[in-house]
Amino acid sequence: MNHRILAFALGLLAVSGGAMAVEGKWTPSQILELDPQWLHAQGLEVAPETLWSRDGGGLLEAAVRISGCSAGFISARGLLITNHHCAFSILQQHSTPQRDLITDGFLARTPAEELPGSGSRATIPHRVTDVTAEVEAAVPAGADDLARFQAIERKKKELVAACERQESRRCEVATFDGGVRYLLNESLEYPDVRLVYAPPRAVGEYGGEVDNWSWPRHTGDFALLRVYAAPDGRPAARADGNVPYPPKHSFPVAARGVEPDGFVMLVGYPGRTFRSFTAAEMAERAELYYPGLSALYRAWLDLMEAASAKDETARIALADRIKGLENNEKNARGQVAGIRRGHILERKAGSEREILAWAARHQDQAAGAVAAHDELARRVAERRCTWDRDFLLDRMKQGPKPLDLALTLVRWAGEKAKPDIEREPDYQERNRDILRERLERDQKRMHLPTDAALLTDVLARLAALPAAPADSRVPAVEAFVGGTRDRAALRPRVDDLLSHTQVTDLAERKKMFDESAEQLQARHDPLLDLAFGLDAELKALKERNDRFEGAVSRLRPRWQRAVIAHAGKPVAPDANGTLRLTLAHVQGYSPRDGVWMRPQTTVGGVVEKHTGEEPFAVPPALLAAAPQAPRSRWADPKLKDVPVNFLADADTTGGNSGSPVLNGRGEVVGVNFDRVWENVANDFGYDPGVARNVSVDVRYLLWMLETLKGEAARPLLEEMGMAGKAP
Ligand code: ASP
Repeated sequence: MNHRILAFALGLLAVSGGAMAVEGKWTPSQILELDPQWLHAQGLEVAPETLWSRDGGGLLEAAVRISGCSAGFISARGLLITNHHCAFSILQQHSTPQRDLITDGFLARTPAEELPGSGSRATIPHRVTDVTAEVEAAVPAGADDLARFQAIERKKKELVAACERQESRRCEVATFDGGVRYLLNESLEYPDVRLVYAPPRAVGEYGGEVDNWSWPRHTGDFALLRVYAAPDGRPAARADGNVPYPPKHSFPVAARGVEPDGFVMLVGYPGRTFRSFTAAEMAERAELYYPGLSALYRAWLDLMEAASAKDETARIALADRIKGLENNEKNARGQVAGIRRGHILERKAGSEREILAWAARHQDQAAGAVAAHDELARRVAERRCTWDRDFLLDRMKQGPKPLDLALTLVRWAGEKAKPDIEREPDYQERNRDILRERLERDQKRMHLPTDAALLTDVLARLAALPAAPADSRVPAVEAFVGGTRDRAALRPRVDDLLSHTQVTDLAERKKMFDESAEQLQARHDPLLDLAFGLDAELKALKERNDRFEGAVSRLRPRWQRAVIAHAGKPVAPDANGTLRLTLAHVQGYSPRDGVWMRPQTTVGGVVEKHTGEEPFAVPPALLAAAPQAPRSRWADPKLKDVPVNFLADADTTGGNSGSPVLNGRGEVVGVNFDRVWENVANDFGYDPGVARNVSVDVRYLLWMLETLKGEAARPLLEEMGMAGKAP
C-alpha cells in the first residue's frame, strides 16, 4: 500500500466531507497504487486488480478508442457502446437526401444490415512499457532545442516501428507532462467497424447547440457499433467473410442504472488537458488562443449554416464539419468564461509563486525548477510577436476543405519521398491508408459554393496581416491576391481557381495521391500551386514549433517534478489520449447563487422541452410513447420515470465522449458525453464545486430500443442480456 496516496485520499475525504470528489485521470497502473480500502469505501466492489493487474491488462481493456472518442465492449460478440456524436460520421457517409439516416437514425435488424464505417477504427489496448530512459538517452549531449525535439521524435518513431513489426499492432509513444515520462502503448487496431444502432438526430442531438455544454440535459447521445475481425480473431480490413470480434473483456450492462450519491467510474481516452502548464502558458490560451478560435470558427460557421439552411445537399455535406466546429467554438467560449469565473489564472499565478519560493529553498528536490519556469515564460512571451500569422496558418486546414485536401496532398508528396523514419509521423507509411481514406471520404464533406466562401475568408484574413512593423505577409497569398485586400474582389478569383482545380475531383485526387511533388507541380493546378506556397510557410512554422516543443521537453519535466514534490501527494498526469480511469459520484451542483441543479433528468423532461422546433422537436413516436414510460420496466422507482441523463463529478475532457460509465461492479450504467458549462475550463484545473460531467443513463437506451424499435431490437437486447429481464 502506498501510504502517501492513502493519506492524500483520506485528507481529501476530510476536507470535502460528503462530496468525496477525487481529482485525477489516473493511469491504470496508478489505480493499483491507491489504497484498496479507500477505493472500497468510495464504492468499488471489485478488487482493483480486476480492473488492471500488476502484469498489465484486465477489465479496463474493454475500453477502446474510436475516431477521437472512447467506447466500451458490452457483449462477447464485439458490440460497442459509444455516443451518437462519435458514430455521426458513419451516418453521414451513408446518408443521401432520399435515405437520410442522420435525421431518421438507423437500426440493423440483422448483422448483414450493419453499416461499415469508412475510416473508423477500434483501437484495443494490449500492453504498456515505460520507455523514458531510452527516450532521454537518445538526446545527444549539447543538442539545441530543435535537435533535441528531432532526436526525441526519431526515437519515438524507432520504438513505434519496432513495436509495429509485430503483427496487427498499432503503437504510440505517449508523452506525460511534457516529458516526465514516456510510455510505449501497444494496441491492436481493428479497421472493420460497423454501425448497429443510432437514434434519430432529434434524440441523439436533442437540444443541439443550445444545450451543448450545459445542464439540465435531455440528450440520447448513444450509439451501438460492432467490431469485426478475421475468422481467427485478428484485425482485418473490411470483408464479407469477417466475423464479430470476441473481446477478451466486456462490461456487462446493468439495468438498474444509477442513483444520487452512487459511485461511478469512467474509463476512456481523455484527449488533452493543460494543468501542468505554467501561468504564462495558460494566459496565452485564455487571452489569445481561445478568443481567436471562437471568432474564426464563428465566422466560418455563419457561412456554413447559411448554406445549409438554403440547400439540402449542403446540409448533408456540411453536417459533420459544422457539428465539429460548433462544438469547438462553444468549448472555446466556455474555456474563456470558465477561466475567468474560476479565477484560474490568478490562482495559478498564486500557486506558482508559492512553488517558486519553495523550490528556491529546496534545491535538493527542485534542482533547476525556478530557471525552467522562467525560461518557459520567456519563450511563451516570444511567441506573441508572430501570434496572428501563426494562428491563422495553423488553423486554416479546419476551414475550406479543398485547401485542406491540397495541403495534405502536397505535404504527402514531399514526405513520402523521404525514408520512412525521417518523415513527419502523420505522413509515415503506417498512416498511408488513413490519409487515403480521408482524402476519399472528404468528397462527401465538400460543398463547393460554401468552400469557395471559406477559402475567400481565409485568404482575405491572410492578406489583411500587417506589412509593418514585422512583416507578417505570406508571399504565396500576396502572389494570389495581387494587391487586392477587398473580400468582394477576391471572391471571383477564388471561384476561378476552384473551377480550374482538379483537387476537388475524386478520381483525379486519387491519382494525385500516388504522384511525386514534381508531378504535382507539373500539373500547374492553381490550387496545388497555392498549396505549395502555403506549405513552405507551414514548414517554417513547424520548425519554430518543434524548437519550442524541444524547449518544453527540457523545461517542463524539471518544473513539473518540483510541482509534484511540493504537492506531497500523487498528481495524475495531464490527459494525453491514453487510457485513464476517473472515480466519481452521481451528484448535482450549484452553478450560481441560489440555484441547485439536481443530477438526473427524465423522459418527462424531454417532453417538457419539446417545442416542435429544432433542436427541441421530439420525434412523434417518442412523444407518443413517453406517457407510458413511467410504467415501463426501465423506469426508476424513485424518479417514477425513465431516466435520461445524469451528472457526476468525474474528471473528464474531450475524448472521454463515449466513455462507458461503470458502477462499482464494473457494469455499464451509462455513457459519458459532455461537461457542464462551468466545468469546460477544468482542462486547466479541477474545481470540485462545479466539476460535473454529463452522461446518458443506459436505461434510456434500453427503453428506446424496446419501446420504439420493438421486435426489430429484440436480438440486440438479448445480446446485451436484457431481453425480458426485470431490472
Ligand atoms: N464532448 C466531449 C467529447 O466529445 C466530452 C467533453 O469534452 O467533456 O469527448
